[in-house]
Amino acid sequence: MTGVPAAIRDLALASPLEIRGLRKRYGDNEVVAGIDLRLRAGECFTLLGPNGAGKTTTLRCALGLTRPSGGEILLAGLPVPERAREARMRVGVVPQQDNLDPDFTCAENLLVYGRYFGLDDATITARIPELLAFAGLESKRDARIQSLSGGMKRRLTLARALVNRPDLLILDEPTTGLDPQARHLIWERLKQLTRNGTTVLLTTHFMDEAERLADRLAILDAGRMLTEGSPREVIAAQIEAQVVEVYGDWNGAARNGTSGAQAWAEAHAGAFARRYEVSGETAFCYLDDAAPLMAHLAEQQGLRYLRRPANLEDVFLKLTGRDLRD
Ligand code: ADP
Repeated sequence: MTGVPAAIRDLALASPLEIRGLRKRYGDNEVVAGIDLRLRAGECFTLLGPNGAGKTTTLRCALGLTRPSGGEILLAGLPVPERAREARMRVGVVPQQDNLDPDFTCAENLLVYGRYFGLDDATITARIPELLAFAGLESKRDARIQSLSGGMKRRLTLARALVNRPDLLILDEPTTGLDPQARHLIWERLKQLTRNGTTVLLTTHFMDEAERLADRLAILDAGRMLTEGSPREVIAAQIEAQVVEVYGDWNGAARNGTSGAQAWAEAHAGAFARRYEVSGETAFCYLDDAAPLMAHLAEQQGLRYLRRPANLEDVFLKLTGRDLRD
């Protein structure tokens, strides 16, 4: 970048959040075990992982709300936890649980929250109409929090996080517990924010959310990043291109008490698929070219099957396993 003034170059390169070698231990339990992350200005970065992976702890450390056991954090260019309070002035946060004040109206919640950032009442009051409009809550200005639906509360919490016009918005599971309509609206609003240059960091365990929103994502488990990249890059790097799901009855054999698809998979899947696994009643076959397997399946009696491109959920299950988490 020769010819570009240093100050402008530094601004372009500045990361809203940089984490190096982050570790967090609770007693003997290391719940974050060496995480590196560098957000690019204006991107949506998604931390994806099963329950207990360490997503929330990573965010809490980044915000200076939990003291790390090791590593370095720069939030808005400032070291955390040392200068966390100052850094948080540039950041918006949507916590996992809505913590709106139930005694206040929507507008009052925005006003009170804005004061934490040192904004004067006139400035906040001037921003309230646009914040309510962003949340689709213009008609709820004077409504009490108890009267709002779950989706409305979430939208107000999102609007509240924008009261200080942050460069970086951090959201912990923003759509957990919402119905599909409410989820779509939140997604649409987050896209609008990134289009306008806000950097977004969010956690989720929903693959569709990550696939829709993320410019880049990382899959975490047991406090470690297992993979990182754009959704396409991650899928291409981690998994075969095609998946064929096989289920139903198989007339070929019923062996050792196994179900139709399992008996079929044990007899034939290995001949066609690079990798396969049986979960419940379904055999999942992972392969780069599904055509030979499809020809074989067309000749089997009773089996049903579905061919589809590999997706993020396949990668997630491959990397984190199919065992249930608490
Ligand atoms: P995630 O957000 O990915 O579901 P968390 O970061 O909430 O995961 O939790 C990671 C692990 O850290 C979990 O095993 C959780 O029980 C543990 N943990 C989180 N907070 C505390 C705490 N304050 N004390 C002890 N263990 C904790």
